[in-house]
Amino acid sequence: MSDRLILVLDEGTTSTRAMLYAPDGRRLGMTQAELTQYYPQPGWVEHDAAEIWDRTLACARQQVEQAGGADRIAAIGITNQRETVVAWDKRTGAPLARAIVWQDRRTAQQCAALKEAGHEPAVQRRTGLVIDPYFSATKMRWLLDHEPALAEAGDALAFGTVESWLVWKLTGGLHISDASNASRTQLMALNGEGWDQGLCDLFGVPPRALPEISDNAGAFGETRAEWFGRPIPIRGLAGDQQAATIGQGCLTPGDAKATLGTGAFVLANRGSTVPVSQHRLLGTLLYRLSGERTYALEGSVFVAGSLIQWLRDRLGLIASAGETEALARSVPDNGGVMMLPALAGLGAPHWRPDATGTISGLTQGTGRAHIVRAALESLSHQLCDLAGAFAADGAAWRMLRIDGGMSANDWIAQDMADMLDLAVDRPADVETTAKGAAMLAALGCGLYPSLAAAGDAMGAGLTRFTPTLPTERRAERLAQWDALLGQALRR
Ligand code: ADP
Repeated sequence: MSDRLILVLDEGTTSTRAMLYAPDGRRLGMTQAELTQYYPQPGWVEHDAAEIWDRTLACARQQVEQAGGADRIAAIGITNQRETVVAWDKRTGAPLARAIVWQDRRTAQQCAALKEAGHEPAVQRRTGLVIDPYFSATKMRWLLDHEPALAEAGDALAFGTVESWLVWKLTGGLHISDASNASRTQLMALNGEGWDQGLCDLFGVPPRALPEISDNAGAFGETRAEWFGRPIPIRGLAGDQQAATIGQGCLTPGDAKATLGTGAFVLANRGSTVPVSQHRLLGTLLYRLSGERTYALEGSVFVAGSLIQWLRDRLGLIASAGETEALARSVPDNGGVMMLPALAGLGAPHWRPDATGTISGLTQGTGRAHIVRAALESLSHQLCDLAGAFAADGAAWRMLRIDGGMSANDWIAQDMADMLDLAVDRPADVETTAKGAAMLAALGCGLYPSLAAAGDAMGAGLTRFTPTLPTERRAERLAQWDALLGQALRR
């Protein structure tokens, strides 16, 4: 068994990928296919669930072939874009409507009405989540209200997030959702076992259409023989951000990871403590193993790598994202320039959708490099604000591990370490989402006795960035940022 491989299905928002992992964590292969994005109206984002399945199967088949056949695969692990809702017919296995993607804002009014009616504090206490179109519950209700095929399906209606849909298709009818994904629907109480009847009533979602909630590792059934020539067991499931946290080895309370992609997603392990935020962070389930729940506190900033894209595509200041590193190093400091990157409002912990961005401190002496450096610095400042909110919620970070496209930038990694006054670690393999799914599958098929053992065996080396900035320089920068932020929040 020990030389057999793990097949990971990494179901992203823009693409689906199949990856092969050796038991020691080396990635041996990858096939990727783009997913069509449908934007039928402003603020609406849809996927074709049939396409998700077809492309996932095609990618998986290529990797199974590369592995030398299904016999060579010990287990499958699945990780996925969270919150996206698929509705299908249990009799035919066919989607009943387009999937509503996590980014979709069509239920904003419904959410506003629920908040107006005073439901948010109780919902947040139970689910860890604020009431927002982001989560699955209002998307499910919208489908019930607007897609007649769902009502026509009657008891044959099945709802699920994307991992649930893929497990159904792969196994030919197993209807489960893992606890990390279930915790993002807003229908599961963080400290409960199954779906919460009160929440299902509030959001108007019939529990009979929902999958059974499962652990994140275990025996979840086998793929139908027809897909890969022989059944392959499915042994690990997790939402993408939770999988990345696991893949980063953040398995102890206080361990935190930041994925620096288009936006920045931070999750900090909270152990068995049900997270309750007073600072508008989200409480979420990190993983459930043998029924034991481990939680995380989560905070997102909307603009991270997209700020670099903006410098490139809108301002034309740089030709490529990679250039920012040398530019930032080419000047001794920001020359007094500060940037508030509120290009899409401000996310956690400020939650000001109306905020707009600012560039301050411009003089005759300001050059392109100062503006680029200020842009990179603004990302560290956003993380500092998040770190402050986590600490105020009693979940201070002991360390921070980074991944995502921006983490390749050594200057940013060093600046984050300096401003957070914390060691920042970057793994050699930044595909942490897939790695986390591989670890769960390896645990689920008995390759390793615990997640920690899987992490030790499958983890790659780390590059560590340690703080070096003198205290007074750090204090100066923090004060400059607070002044800029203060102005924006008062507007
Ligand atoms: P996502 O998964 O959200 O699509 P990725 O993790 O692929 O994002 O990261 C891509 C983002 O990272 C882009 O917005 C890009 O501008 C930024 N990026 C990539 N390389 C660098 C770099 N060397 N320095 C700064 N930003 C970078």
